[in-house]
Amino acid sequence: MLIVGASLAGMRAAETLRLEGFEGSITMVGDEPEPPYDRPPLSKEILSGEWQADRTALYRPEALEALELTWRLGVRAVGLDIAGRSVALDDGEVLRGDGVVLATGARPRTLRNAEPLDGVYTLRSLTDALAIREEFLAQPSRVVVVGAGFIGAEVAAVAREQGLSVTMVEIAEVPLQRVLGAEMGAVCAEVHSDHGVDLLMGAAVGSLVGGDDGRVHQVVFSDGSRLEADMVVVGIGVVPNTEWLEGSGLRLGDGVVCDETCLAAPGIVAAGDVARWPNKLFADSMRVEHWDNAVEQGSAAARRLLAGAAGCAGASYTPVPWFWSDQYDRKIQLAGRTREDDEVKVVTGSVDERRFAAIYGRAGRIVGVLGFNRPRHVMLYRRLIASAASWEEALAVAEGDG
Ligand code: FAD
Ligand code: NAP
Repeated sequence: MLIVGASLAGMRAAETLRLEGFEGSITMVGDEPEPPYDRPPLSKEILSGEWQADRTALYRPEALEALELTWRLGVRAVGLDIAGRSVALDDGEVLRGDGVVLATGARPRTLRNAEPLDGVYTLRSLTDALAIREEFLAQPSRVVVVGAGFIGAEVAAVAREQGLSVTMVEIAEVPLQRVLGAEMGAVCAEVHSDHGVDLLMGAAVGSLVGGDDGRVHQVVFSDGSRLEADMVVVGIGVVPNTEWLEGSGLRLGDGVVCDETCLAAPGIVAAGDVARWPNKLFADSMRVEHWDNAVEQGSAAARRLLAGAAGCAGASYTPVPWFWSDQYDRKIQLAGRTREDDEVKVVTGSVDERRFAAIYGRAGRIVGVLGFNRPRHVMLYRRLIASAASWEEALAVAEGDG
């Protein structure tokens, strides 16, 4: 088997193949030089200095060895031949497999019109995180975080905890608006302003300006106004890594388009941040950019390959997506598939104390649950979402629980 992308989804696919008894060869192709590492600590424990880099390893060396994988790290896949199930690498080698797992993830979007300047960062890799940590230690006088999504919110939180001055700039009216909606995004905004972050919402950054020293010194907004900055972290979303698949015949459309079983073509599956598939539970096509999905879909995709090899139909992949985000002393968790215009109801706790759970409803169904330091409630309502419970059933549970 060939697995392209030697990170979370790819590794979980490899592990599942072995757990399911696959004894043939598994080759891992990855363009990063390091053995697989975990990304969530990069914007949390690595940035704060609480962890050293080696703690991010996804597997201990002996566990990796036990998987008996063949490694091709530091090389990039540049082409896929669907019929031959072969992958061309940038060093000229061509690898063939009975099955191929596509797990090439995503990379940060960058600002258009931004010239390369010192002091400007995106955050995806361990190298990025260590470089941002170094800058934090040098005590920049004004950190501007562009984008109040996950990267922006988590980086701003750590920077404030390090005593740095932080401005967070976002196009939408509140942080994480697309995921939390306006009402709950406003709660997130309050958490940040309580911790001393300057919030500039409804403002789009167009470009960055440097000084004669080649270092960033201003952020320029689309209306022409400017803000001083000597460090900028850009977290304005990601782009799925699919360019290398162009011309292969696979369907691409904001990700590798799969069927409901994660199959992109016969013998070829996709998983994690790069995969788009129709999730029947929500009757929606989705691409999920979170840890839990990379784990679950990596496993599902591996099982799909094995089912195909055994001549069986694969199972539909119908998860309730779930993520967490640590910001200051709050653990924010959301399960489900929310939209900005969903109905939102707080079902337990106190929004003022920032310890509560809220549920999201649409078309008579519960479709999401958000918790601020409420893990038990997130898991309780996640089960209701998984069973396609109605909004009324969810409210009845809330009444019984409260
Ligand atoms: P990736 O982790 O992106 O791995 C893809 C791999 O493929 C990479 O190594 C890439 O370099 C490689 N690759 C790409 N193209 C090629 C090619 N052509 N050839 C060879 N190799 C290639 N999620 C949460 O739920 N909670 C969190 O708190 C959280 N925190 C996060 C913090 C940070 C800083 C980041 C960046 C992400 C965070 N996430 C979090 C999201 C989570 O880490 C991702 O969803 C997960 O890493 C996706 O795994 P993946 O294997 O699909 O993709
Ligand atoms: P994100 O969550 O998509 O947020 C990006 C935000 O930046 C959006 O609100 C976006 O607004 C805004 N934006 C876009 N262009 C802008 C501009 N020019 N000026 C100001 N704001 C702008 O992406 P991210 O925060 O960069 O995160 C990157 C990836 O890492 C994602 O896949 C994310 O899931 C993952 N991650 C996850 C976690 C977690 O789960 N806890 C933590 C860290 C990272 P629009 O939406 O209107 O474009």
